[in-house]
Amino acid sequence: MKTQVLVIGSGAGGAVTALELARNGVDVTVLEEGKRHPLASYGQGTTESMKRLYRRRGMTPIFGSVPIGYVEGRCVGGSTEINSGFWHRTPREVLLRWKAQFDLDGASVEELAPHFEWAEELLSVSLSGKPWPKSTEVFAKGADAMGWAAKEVPRAATGCENSNACANGCPKGAKQGMSLAVVPKFEDAGARLITGAHVKLLVKRGSRITGVLAEVEMDDGARKLVRIDAEHVFVCAGPTETPALLRRSGIKFHVGETLRIHPMLKVVARFRERIDAWANVLPLMQVQEFRPEVSMGGAFFTPGHAALALSDNWDPSRMKDLRNMAGYYVAVRGRGRGQVRPGVLGDDSTVIRYELADEDVVNLSNGLARLATLLLAAGAEEVFPSVQGLPSITSEREAVRWLDDRLSRSSLSLTTVHAFSSCPIGERTDKCAADSYGKVARWDNLYVNDASILPDSPGVNPQGSVMAFARRNAQHFLDARA
Ligand SMILES: Cc1cc2nc3c(=O)[nH]c(=O)nc-3n(C[C@H](O)[C@H](O)[C@H](O)COP(=O)(O)OP(=O)(O)OC[C@H]3O[C@@H](n4cnc5c(N)ncnc54)[C@H](O)[C@@H]3O)c2cc1C
Repeated sequence: MKTQVLVIGSGAGGAVTALELARNGVDVTVLEEGKRHPLASYGQGTTESMKRLYRRRGMTPIFGSVPIGYVEGRCVGGSTEINSGFWHRTPREVLLRWKAQFDLDGASVEELAPHFEWAEELLSVSLSGKPWPKSTEVFAKGADAMGWAAKEVPRAATGCENSNACANGCPKGAKQGMSLAVVPKFEDAGARLITGAHVKLLVKRGSRITGVLAEVEMDDGARKLVRIDAEHVFVCAGPTETPALLRRSGIKFHVGETLRIHPMLKVVARFRERIDAWANVLPLMQVQEFRPEVSMGGAFFTPGHAALALSDNWDPSRMKDLRNMAGYYVAVRGRGRGQVRPGVLGDDSTVIRYELADEDVVNLSNGLARLATLLLAAGAEEVFPSVQGLPSITSEREAVRWLDDRLSRSSLSLTTVHAFSSCPIGERTDKCAADSYGKVARWDNLYVNDASILPDSPGVNPQGSVMAFARRNAQHFLDARA
């Protein structure tokens, strides 16, 4: 098979790339490893949803002195199908830093604004416009009592019906993941989507990529190795699989050396009153006061997530208070650094490492102190941190201890759902894998266009940045060909 442009991955980066190119008359084929799932199959229980929609059934470890649990999507639409739809533009300060540190061209607030506006309209990004669920209300009360800047974050989920199923695929079709908001549009514009197509290797000749080798699932369920030729290849397989695929194909220049994440520490708060967080959408508010280094907000919460969060200091009797509980998090901008490598056993596995920086531990400790203080001020009687051996926090005095003391690394149970920067873009050839618009260094027709290109951690939920940069880069590609 031959195509003009091959896009690998149909998540936030890949779907936008395909749409922009197809709408401008380019012959596009998208290869997606996961399957297309109808809306009717969304919103199942956690175990079933993780099996269908997540990579490795939701069990991807990030190795390091503190192991970190990581998940990402593996389905049409990628991680946008299982995320919460919180929307941010890349903060001005972060963009200024990227210019200063990576010599990133064409990425000022003003230059990115039209791309954000486009994406926000496409996904109907808005505030909920409905009365807040109790778990948001109490969080707002706590932030107010502390006098901290906090606000409801807009989401790509207009018409959200509080079904509390974001992470299992929104069954109501309210969340505007790529499968709903972008994939049908790129198909209408003429792009082909091949699902169940796992790209194993890029095929090279000289300084060009001539195509890919992909294992594709046929109609009878058999898997066949297929070669697909292309004039240009955009790798949009996400922040871990993009560098793994490039390195597996022998493309290693600043690839997979600088993974950044937002390490996240979760807590469960038990209130005097009924909260019923498990029966409502997750808390919609985030504290802005300590941005970009530290942010706080609401976590996805089901009985299973509650049990998991409480398991560090497990006492089964606590589960009887489930209706009075809600989950929250503190996330830090992540000053540590990670690596991504293809597994060595020939099984297409990916090995991810991240070493938590000392500042990360300090910020997580401060963040826990502040989050616990806020929740106590909001009326929580007990705050249970995901920290092994740390008893529940029941007073402000116990909480503020962590403003000065450090949590021990070995006790932390951390997770993350935000990863990036594994193929940073910019004009600094001493640290960038690709130029400012995603063209991979030393290759004539190879591009990266997903979360892996963000030069450094954005400090805010990343989907907006991924989409805005992806559209900007696709337009730059079109302009360069014109
Ligand atoms: C649970 C969860 C909650 C989140 N919440 C938010 C939020 O509220 N707001 C926000 O801004 N961000 C959120 N994020 C992060 C956001 O979804 C991601 O940053 C964004 O989707 C990344 O886009 P991407 O294109 O890089 O990767 P993805 O969207 O993950 O897409 C990559 C795609 O490539 C495919 N692929 C990978 N390897 C191959 C291969 N070899 N061959 C073919 N296909 C391949 C994958 O199957 C996948 O579909 C969340 C993420 C998760 C997992």
